[in-house]
Amino acid sequence: MNIRRLMAVWSARLIKTACRLTGKQGVTLAGKAALSIYPPILRELAQEVKKDIFVVCGTNGKTTTNNLLADLLSFDGSKVVCNRTGSNMLNGVVSAFVLSAGLNGHLNADYACIEIDEASTVRVFPHFKPDYMVLTNLFRDQLDRYGEIDITMNLLSRAMKMAPDMKVLVNGDDSLSTYLAMDNENPWSAYGISTQVFQEENTKEIREGRFCKRCGEKMEYNFYHYSQLGDYYCPGCGFKRPSLEFDGTNVDLNDGIAFDVNGFHIKANYRGFYNVYNILAVYGAASLAGVPLEHFNEILGNYKPQFGRNELFQISGTKVMLNLAKNPAGFNQNIAAVMTDSSPKDIIILINDNSQDGTDVSWLWDVDFDRLKDANAASITVCGLRCQDMRLRLKYVDIPSELEPDIEKAITAKIKTGTRNLYVLVNYTGLYSTHNILKKMEGKKS
Ligand SMILES: [Zn+2]
Repeated sequence: MNIRRLMAVWSARLIKTACRLTGKQGVTLAGKAALSIYPPILRELAQEVKKDIFVVCGTNGKTTTNNLLADLLSFDGSKVVCNRTGSNMLNGVVSAFVLSAGLNGHLNADYACIEIDEASTVRVFPHFKPDYMVLTNLFRDQLDRYGEIDITMNLLSRAMKMAPDMKVLVNGDDSLSTYLAMDNENPWSAYGISTQVFQEENTKEIREGRFCKRCGEKMEYNFYHYSQLGDYYCPGCGFKRPSLEFDGTNVDLNDGIAFDVNGFHIKANYRGFYNVYNILAVYGAASLAGVPLEHFNEILGNYKPQFGRNELFQISGTKVMLNLAKNPAGFNQNIAAVMTDSSPKDIIILINDNSQDGTDVSWLWDVDFDRLKDANAASITVCGLRCQDMRLRLKYVDIPSELEPDIEKAITAKIKTGTRNLYVLVNYTGLYSTHNILKKMEGKKS
């Protein structure tokens, strides 16, 4: 037995336990320690995975897609390594494997299902070559202004070349993801929604990738789903949306989500069109790997969203829905999800500008807030460090808002006097504190 490897596994466990006792998360710290004690730890543990290793990348939808896939893979009792908390850089990935290992330093796992931050792929792939990569989409993130997507695409391209046998599953409705797959040698296939679901709206939504990555010509669209996702083609070089191996048809968003894919009917009690893509990605990845899907609807029904992904609370008779909205594409999708509920509602929007949020909040101007005029909102309250910017953004489109920097006070007020239907949209650093406040309120009997 390799003593250093044992040390690495035991230290990681100790750190994790110590951190939990002191109320810290400690996941990335555990991974960091394990890797420095025994650098080959990730490579060796990954080799012990008996069947397939999946990785999930992409700007939005990684955590939901990855965790749903892990639920599906483990349904028959298979053991799955998964970084469920979304610690998706190298140390977080190391942690997922190390903390799944037994005290003997070995891993007893059938699958690994790992979300990886796009830029971290080139740091993770030297340790193991995944069997499958799911690429959900490439949007401009809140920190990015110009050129960031090209950097991300170059890194993903390098990662794909490091694992040439890895099968890639991309969102075919996204020209950027599709181009990446086409431009590399990896075997690939696509999922998407081939028919138009929404009537074309006069949206000012930011469209990334408007120009063909192959020849630079301006792309044409038969229709858009949202952001730059849709049915595109390039008049210059013929680059176009690929044929979709996993095509979501008969999409119905009236009561949760329902659609068909390859003769299989899917029904889930989630809101948000973007979840059709997340579910399609999971369906596609499992199909490619030959994983049985007959219990998929049951798994979707049991799925517990992570913090702030359609997370529902019941507080003193008020239904509170918490959602993370960290970039323009995510925010627009959350607004669209709010719009599918026609009943009266209160809305709270929290915007912080800590370093993880992006200190530049100009991205707020890329979000279609004017749509909230038709949201049947009794009130909109703005919170957080940049509540004034948010208020100004709404004022610009003639939407009045209430100002309350403190999220706890804002929630308490709306639970007391509101419509009993409350939506809370927060960006990144507001998520954990808001989640904890809502959890605490839910626990209190009034
Ligand atoms: Zn072109």
